[in-house]
Amino acid sequence: MPQLAQRVGRAKPSAIMVIAEKAKQLKAAGRDIISFSIGVPNFLPGEHVYAAAREALSHDSGQYGSNRGAEVLLDAFLKHIEALGFTGYARNNLSVGIGAKQVLYNLAEALLNEGEEICFAAPYWTTYHDIADIVGAKVNVLHCGPAQNYKLTPEQLEGALARKPKVFLFNNPSNPTGMVYTREEIAALADVLAKYPDTWIVTDDIYNSMVFDGIGYHNFVFAKPELRDRLIFVDSVSKTYGMPGWRVGLIAGPESVAKAITTLNSNHITSVPEVITAAAVAAFSGPQDVPQAKCKEFAHKRDIVLAALAKIPGVVCPRPQGAFYAFPDVSGAFGKSHGGKLIGNDVDLCAVLLEAKGVACVPGSAFGEPRAMRISYTCPTAQLEPGLARIVEFFAELN
Ligand code: PLP
Repeated sequence: MPQLAQRVGRAKPSAIMVIAEKAKQLKAAGRDIISFSIGVPNFLPGEHVYAAAREALSHDSGQYGSNRGAEVLLDAFLKHIEALGFTGYARNNLSVGIGAKQVLYNLAEALLNEGEEICFAAPYWTTYHDIADIVGAKVNVLHCGPAQNYKLTPEQLEGALARKPKVFLFNNPSNPTGMVYTREEIAALADVLAKYPDTWIVTDDIYNSMVFDGIGYHNFVFAKPELRDRLIFVDSVSKTYGMPGWRVGLIAGPESVAKAITTLNSNHITSVPEVITAAAVAAFSGPQDVPQAKCKEFAHKRDIVLAALAKIPGVVCPRPQGAFYAFPDVSGAFGKSHGGKLIGNDVDLCAVLLEAKGVACVPGSAFGEPRAMRISYTCPTAQLEPGLARIVEFFAELN
C-alpha cells in the first residue's frame, strides 16, 4: 500500500469544524441548538452584487481568466485599499486567490522554505499553524494571554524578530479575540519591525471593515512606509461583504511577491471565475451600506455579549473592538463539575456546555489559548440573548 505524503500527516482537521459538526448532529436529533461556533457573517451581500453576477452570467465567455486576477478586479481592489489608506500601489503589486485562506497558503509556499521560521501571536486563527505545518515551517508562537488583552507587545515582537524568522504573520482585527490594535500600538510594533529587514511581514486584516469604538483600521505601512518592500496585506470579500462562499481573496504587496503568487496560481487555480470576479468587483466598488450597517450591528451585539459575560463571576473577557468574536477567559471553571461531569479544561467545558445547554462555542485550545473559549456572535439577536442566558445559567450551575 503506498503511503500518503508526510505533509498530509502534519495537517489536522479543523477543531472548529468538529464542534460545528457535533452541534449539527444534535440539531438533526431534534435538540434546540444555538451555535456560536462558526465564524461566518450572518448576512448576504447587497442586491447590486447579485445583479453584477447575473449580468456577467449573461455574457460569460466560459474561458480561463488571468492568473493575477482580471484587471477590472485589480482596479476595484486598488480603489478599495486606497480608501483604507494604502496608497501608491499598482496592478503589479496585487494578486488574487480563492479566498484569503488560499492566498495565505500560497504566501506560505512563496515565502517559506522547509525548516524556516514563521512567528505569530497566540491566540491565532487555527489555519495559520496548520498551513505552516503543511509547508514544513518552524512555528514560534508568541503567547499573548488575557492579562495583556491578547495583544502582542513590542518587547515580545523584538524577542521573536531577534531570532531572524523568515515571516512574521499578524492579524488585526483578530480572530478569535476580536482585539484591534490602536494607531499607537501599530506604530510601536512598526518601529520594531523596521529594525529587522530580513523578515517578511504578512498582515491578515480581512476584518478591517469591522472595527468599533472609533479606533479605526491601522496597518504598519501607514506608520512606516519603508516597510512596504516586505509587507503583504491580505484581504477578502468573505467577512466584509457577507460573501464567504464566493471565495475571493487578494494581496497587495511587493511586486516580487505578487508575481510569485500569480505563478503559483498558474499552477494551482488558474483564475477566479468570471461571474465571481464580477460579483467581487461590484462588492468593492458598489455602495458600502451593508458592511457599514453590519459593523454597527456587531458593535451592538458585542455589548450584549459583554453584558452577559459580566454576570458570570470569575469569567474575564478582554473587550473586543472588532470582527465578531469574544474570547472570554473561562479557566476559573476548570476543576468544577456540571451535572456530575468534571470540567478539566476548555474542551470539556465546550462539550458539556453543548450537551447540557445546547450552546456551541469553540475551545480556546483550537487557537493556542486553552484558558478561553470563542463566542462567535453573528447569529440573530433573537438567538443571541437566549444563548448567552444559557451560558450564564450553565456557569451558575457549576459546583
Ligand atoms: N483570516 C482570518 C483571520 C479568518 O478568520 C479567516 C476566516 O475565518 C480567513 C483568513 C479566511 O478567509 P476566506 O474566507 O477569505 O478564505
